Amino acid sequence: MVSEPYGGRLINRVLAGRERERRLSDAKEMISIEVDRGAILDAEKIATGAYSPLEGFMSSTDYYNVVRNETLENGLPWTIPIILAPREEHDAGITGELRDGDEVALYYLGEPFAILHVEERFRFDKRELAEKVFRTVDVRHPNVKELFNMGGILLAGGVDLIQRVDHVLSRYELTPLETRRIFSEMRWEKIAAYQTRNPPHMAHEYIQRCTLEMVDGILIHPVTELKEDDFPPQATVEGYEFLIKNFYPKNRAVLATLSIQMRYAGSRAAIFLAIVRKNYGCTHFVVGRDIAGVGDYYEPYEAHEAMKGLDIGIEPIFFRESFYCKRCRGIVSERTCGHTGDDHVRISMSEVRHIISSGKEPPPQTVRPEIARILKRHLGTAEDPQRST
Ligand SMILES: [Zn+2]
Repeated sequence: MVSEPYGGRLINRVLAGRERERRLSDAKEMISIEVDRGAILDAEKIATGAYSPLEGFMSSTDYYNVVRNETLENGLPWTIPIILAPREEHDAGITGELRDGDEVALYYLGEPFAILHVEERFRFDKRELAEKVFRTVDVRHPNVKELFNMGGILLAGGVDLIQRVDHVLSRYELTPLETRRIFSEMRWEKIAAYQTRNPPHMAHEYIQRCTLEMVDGILIHPVTELKEDDFPPQATVEGYEFLIKNFYPKNRAVLATLSIQMRYAGSRAAIFLAIVRKNYGCTHFVVGRDIAGVGDYYEPYEAHEAMKGLDIGIEPIFFRESFYCKRCRGIVSERTCGHTGDDHVRISMSEVRHIISSGKEPPPQTVRPEIARILKRHLGTAEDPQRST
C-alpha cells in the first residue's frame, strides 16, 4: 500500500489530448510572461501532483501562513513558499494591464509551458521571507541571492500544464503517478525516499543498505537544480546507475530525478522534501546529517529535531553521520563503533570534488574507484570553459 497523497488527493493538472490542443492555441492569445527555470519546474510539479494539495502558486493567505507559521491556510504543515515572482520588468504590466481572473501563459525559453489562472496579485517582503524561511539575508546564500533578484509582485492562482519540461535527465523524471504505479507493480508496501544532491560515496551506500533492511524498496531521488559548485546531476545519476546495477539486489531500488530548485533551508527544506516524497508514494523518508543545508547557516541535525514530533504522514528514518573506521574496517557511525578520532576517515562530497579536480583519487574506503572515475569524467566536462550553459 503506497502512501496517501498529502492532503488526501493527488492533484493532476496536466492537460492532455484535445483539451491540451485547445488550451495551447488559447495560450498563444493570452498575456504571456516569460518565467525562469525554477518557476516553470514548480509549475510542472504543481500540475503533476508532486506538490499536492497545492493546485497553483500560493495565495497571500497560504503564503503568510507558510512563512510565519509553517502551515497552509487549512492548517496542514507546509514549510516552503511556492510562489511565482516574475522579473521586475513585468511589475508594471502585472499591476496595470492584468486583472484578477485573467489567464496568463507562462513561457520558458520562448515556449508556452503552462496557463496560470490569476486569482491574486500581491507585493511581498523579500527580507521577511529570507529571514523566516532561510534564516539569513546573506546574498551568498544561493536561494537568498535568487530571491533578491526576483520582481516584487507575486502572482497567485491555479496552474494547468501544457507541456513537461524537457532536459538531459528527462527519462529519469517520473511523475507521482508513475512512481506510484511502479511501487504497486513491485508490491512494495514500505517505501523509503532517499533525498540527495550528490553522487554516492560509501557512507551513503551504508545508509541505503541499512534502510533496505527496514523497508521493501527505496526511491533514490536526487534533486537536479543545484548551486554551481555541486556535482552535475548527470554524475549523480550515472553513479547511482552503476551502484544499483552492480551492487544492489534486483528490484529493491528505483532511481528517478526530482527536477526542482534545491531549497537550502535546513529543517524547513527537509520537511518540504519529505512531503513531496509522500506525494510520490513513499511511506518513509531518510533523514541524514545536514540533509538540506548549505554553508553553515543550519545545524547538521536540526531536521531530526524538527521532524521528531511532526505528523506529516511519512515516517522519518534518522541516521547520524557515517564514516570509515580503520579498526572496524568498514563503514560505521558513532552508534555502531566504539573507536574514536584517528581511526575514523570522514569525507564529504565537496572534499571528493576537490580531490578529483586536483587530479588525485579519493581513498577507496570512502568512494568506489569506479564511481570516482565517473565523477572525474563529469567534472572534466563541468569545468570545461567551452561548455555551453
Ligand atoms: Zn571502529
